[in-house]
Amino acid sequence: MTDLHRLSIRELSEGLANAQFSSRELTEHYLKRIAKIDVQVKSYVTVTPELALVEADAADTLRKAGGANVLTGVPIAHKDIFCTQGIKTTAGSKILDNFISPYDATVVAKGKAAGLVTLGKLNMDEFAMGSTSENSYYGATTNPWNSDHVPGGSSGGSAAAVAADLAPFATGTDTGGSIRQPASFCGLTGLKPTYGRVSRFGMIAYASSLDQGGPMARSAEDCAYLMNVMAGHDAKDSTSMNQTVDNYVANLNDTSVKGLRIGIPKQYFNVAGLAEDVKARVEESLKKLEDLGATLVEIDLNMTESYVPTYYLIAPAEASSNLQRFDGVRYGYRCENPVDLMDLYKRSRSEGFGAEVQRRILIGTYALSAGYYDAYYVKAQKVRRLIQQDFLKAFESVDVIAAPSAPTTAYKIGADLTPVEMYLGDIYTLAVNLAGLPAINAPVGFDQNNLPVGLQLIGNYWSESQLLSVVHQYQQATDWHTQRAAIAEENA
Ligand code: GLN
Repeated sequence: MTDLHRLSIRELSEGLANAQFSSRELTEHYLKRIAKIDVQVKSYVTVTPELALVEADAADTLRKAGGANVLTGVPIAHKDIFCTQGIKTTAGSKILDNFISPYDATVVAKGKAAGLVTLGKLNMDEFAMGSTSENSYYGATTNPWNSDHVPGGSSGGSAAAVAADLAPFATGTDTGGSIRQPASFCGLTGLKPTYGRVSRFGMIAYASSLDQGGPMARSAEDCAYLMNVMAGHDAKDSTSMNQTVDNYVANLNDTSVKGLRIGIPKQYFNVAGLAEDVKARVEESLKKLEDLGATLVEIDLNMTESYVPTYYLIAPAEASSNLQRFDGVRYGYRCENPVDLMDLYKRSRSEGFGAEVQRRILIGTYALSAGYYDAYYVKAQKVRRLIQQDFLKAFESVDVIAAPSAPTTAYKIGADLTPVEMYLGDIYTLAVNLAGLPAINAPVGFDQNNLPVGLQLIGNYWSESQLLSVVHQYQQATDWHTQRAAIAEENA
């Protein structure tokens, strides 16, 4: 079969179960595509063909013995922030070039236990700091819809790989939008779960109170399959919650769009910099949801202006603390010929970290320093609480909240925005992480340059099933999620 990459996760699962193809055939098919097409997309930092084929054969053997699960033998690729035993894990950084983790992240281990086959590791902004994937030591990934544009970030490799059909689905992480924004830029569905839903064990930390892993795929249905693997309590992550895990696939039809109250935050649609095409496509998608029976309710989210400054204090503060461990001594890059210990620390870090990471460490260290801690960090924490309360109040009168995922479509590669311009592009995604809420991106059309536009739906805590279900029903009634970039149509 030449078009195995066109199949959804459900179709792959059924095809494997019915012996229409083997995991080896499927895996070889994807590896061939990666070898040919990723030369242009550059979504993978590391491809693991030998390992993938060993895992594929093991999956086929298990299936013959009658021990297969729903996903046994289905390929996946992981964002290079998830530790993989025996395979390099770089987090997009020079400082971790050649770092081989002695253990698997819980998300990776769960994937293996479910029988998923690892194709490789996907490119990302260094330590997940960025919105374009250009902040990677391994070079920029390109957007499958237009190679002059970025795929978004920080999970840009994950988004580009799925959008170019170089992996059927992928893991991503979202600290301030890194699943939703690249999903939006590449025309995919991506879910950022409630904080604590997915284990962070073995997921290299950026800002620990905001980081959360989640699925990136073509559709809500595909995401649901991966959520069934990823979600759950983990004793190795003290912030993971011991909360019942839904069967996200079984629940796909459980929430009716009929009668669903969708909150439309007034402040969100008046943001300077919201592109006309994005606004139009998002409004059309809301109209469609209305046609399907939803009610649109105007709401206030008064804290909108404080999202960017609050996030860009708290995230760098936590990052400056988390990144202290990269000291050139224990693991990772070490400078040549240090003259003494201080020189070793200083040069290993200034040679090993890229510019954006260094900027965040400086901002974060400043915000946490003795004289400024109360004025910046403590203040930001207070504002964070107000942002959360704003959402909780809104959820008293609506079921979900709608927003664009990003004010624009994908930027041009090398657009050379200032840091502040870049940070302002995160306006629609940051608050969800500050409040710990779940949110999903769904593709809802294209701008005049044929670049994808995304709708974001934000839910109350633990409402992942509801979000997937609403998007699933939207996708049953529309076909934006089935559209493919030209490069995905190419055969290997
Ligand atoms: N763009 C945001 C940042 O640079 C969010 C990144 C993320 O979610 N990891 O911090």
